[in-house]
Amino acid sequence: MSPAPLTRADALAAWHSFLPHVVEYAARRNHVVEGHPNVSRLSAALRYRLISEDEVITETLAAHPFSKVEKWLQEVCWRRYWKGWLEMRPDVWTSWRRRVSELRRTLPPDILRKAEAVAAGQSGVACMDAFAHELIDTGYLHNHARMWWASFWIHAEKLPWELGADFFFRHLLDADPASNTLSWRWVAGLQTPGKTYLVRLSNLEKYASAISLKASAGSNRIADGAVTPHPQKEWADTTRGALPHYESAYSPISERYGIWLHPDDLLPEVSPLAKLMPKAVAAFSNQSVYQNHYHLSDHRIKSLRKVLADGVTRAAVHYSCSSEMIESANTALSLGDWAQRHQLEEVVAMAPTVGPVHDLLPQLRQHLNSLGIQLTLIRRESGTQAFALAKAGFFPFWEKMSRQLRTAADAQTQFFFS
Ligand SMILES: Cc1cc2nc3c(=O)[nH]c(=O)nc-3n(C[C@H](O)[C@H](O)[C@H](O)COP(=O)(O)OP(=O)(O)OC[C@H]3O[C@@H](n4cnc5c(N)ncnc54)[C@H](O)[C@@H]3O)c2cc1C
Repeated sequence: MSPAPLTRADALAAWHSFLPHVVEYAARRNHVVEGHPNVSRLSAALRYRLISEDEVITETLAAHPFSKVEKWLQEVCWRRYWKGWLEMRPDVWTSWRRRVSELRRTLPPDILRKAEAVAAGQSGVACMDAFAHELIDTGYLHNHARMWWASFWIHAEKLPWELGADFFFRHLLDADPASNTLSWRWVAGLQTPGKTYLVRLSNLEKYASAISLKASAGSNRIADGAVTPHPQKEWADTTRGALPHYESAYSPISERYGIWLHPDDLLPEVSPLAKLMPKAVAAFSNQSVYQNHYHLSDHRIKSLRKVLADGVTRAAVHYSCSSEMIESANTALSLGDWAQRHQLEEVVAMAPTVGPVHDLLPQLRQHLNSLGIQLTLIRRESGTQAFALAKAGFFPFWEKMSRQLRTAADAQTQFFFS
């Protein structure tokens, strides 16, 4: 299996070789085969925005008629939908993180041991164990395998969804606060109340036959009808709030500003920040938070460093200014030091979405304020427009989103490339 692209150059190459095949995507995407040739493997690159959904959508519509690629576009837009949904219900993220630490402290030791064994690929159900090993070894699982495995964890092993989602979050190279948390909630039956996703052996035999036949031990535990819903309690406040407001254009308050790059958006050169002339650019990597707070796998930490380094390198070329990746145990303090070192009066960044970077903002803003430095956050117009549609379920979202995409395709404009 070729590794998931983790630089912009590799992401563009992978995307351009997949682009001619997006017309076959709808028919092939659900089949889980070795090497994953039926899917794009672009998720980590899209998640860190080494390549943007705008680029993928625009180039898809330039190359193919909408009717032939609707399923592909729909999947690409699921990420935006989940992000928009979470932006308006941030407590779902906060409460998940809180529950993960509570459960680790309070669950009986035998349940914690069982959770560790299932996550280590020792459940005794060979095909599920193969998926756990694949995730640990490669940092990737096919979407269908993610659904089966999450369902197995929740409804067959009767383990709390929060800890399963945490296992994914620690290992997936594309780990995305919105897609991961909300997909797990969907499998658990919390996202669409009353609807759970139940794993069935016949479904694996149909879509992953080579894998499930190779690994049949214990498969009676997932025989059709054997897995029944295991209800999960709702802990989060899912009341919809307002979408946070961000400007989509930036006017510096003085010449002394710098750009902060972070893992939610590593594409400043194709963004409203593209034409700026910053004094400096920096990204921050925080090993102690990765390890001690989020317990990320080594593979995941390396991939985070790699995408940050790629962003910093491209920024150096694009802006012709100092562009560095700073290893730090306290991002707020280090960002303040960096801004002072370059005598910045303002730091500008693409607005992070709900998740770890967003969680840093209050401390960061307070620290920069105390130094007399302003923090300004900007969001692409296309993101704001798409997020605003994620008020309820995916299908009303898609109805409106697809209408906009069709109009853009008909007009052959670069409407979504803002
Ligand atoms: C339990 C569970 C956990 C998940 N956790 C994550 C996660 O942490 N990060 C993540 O990026 N995706 C997550 N997904 C969604 C999906 O599985 C992955 O995006 C997809 O498998 C990535 O592989 P790909 O790039 O080859 O996808 P492709 O099939 O090639 O799809 C193209 C792109 O569309 C988007 N996409 C496709 N399917 C989905 C989906 N169901 N939800 C959201 N976006 C989608 C992704 O950006 C993906 O790269 C999760 C799904 C489940 C069921």
